Amino acid sequence: MHTVGILSLQGAFNKHAQVLERLKVDYRYVKYPTDLINCKSLIIPGGESSSLTKLILKNNLYDYLRDFAENKPVFGTCAGLIILSKIDTALVKGLGILDINIERNGWGSQINSFKQNVSAPNICNSKINAVFIRAPRIAKVNDKNIKILSSLNDEPILLQKKKCLGATFHPELTSNLTLHKYFIKMIDEKIITKS
Ligand code: GLN
Repeated sequence: MHTVGILSLQGAFNKHAQVLERLKVDYRYVKYPTDLINCKSLIIPGGESSSLTKLILKNNLYDYLRDFAENKPVFGTCAGLIILSKIDTALVKGLGILDINIERNGWGSQINSFKQNVSAPNICNSKINAVFIRAPRIAKVNDKNIKILSSLNDEPILLQKKKCLGATFHPELTSNLTLHKYFIKMIDEKIITKS
């Protein structure tokens, strides 16, 4: 059994914790660098990537998170995926793990939030109910080692590069545990997409 860290600076971190509780997986909240000790993997939740950036820098977490994400399994959802990308703007500084062009709020603002059943055939046979809240859009994948696990209207919405999993939506807001199970399985069984 290993401990999953959940970055808990801002956003939907407690919902991820609830999912891990349902799966009986040990977790701990991560706010400061020392919290990463003993974490074997990390979830970076959705929220607001600009606020996350501010707090990551304020809490001196940036280098620690980048080092962690380069070496250990990480799952980023929505704003968490933005943080995993190479984005570098005045407001948002990504960790540079996933080389994708990402457009914040690409589907519109809060009122344009939506739910959609999507398929991820490499992961499960049934559909996943995906919740998109001020979700980013992946305009381009620049790295051939990134595997697209699910798309919506031909646009990637779920990606994996080796030990790094990223979703533009919020899997923790539905009762479907598929993606968290996949992440845990990915860690335990070392299901790592081929590069
Ligand atoms: N729009 C947010 C951002 O740019 C992401 C929204 C979310 O995580 N639900 O960071």
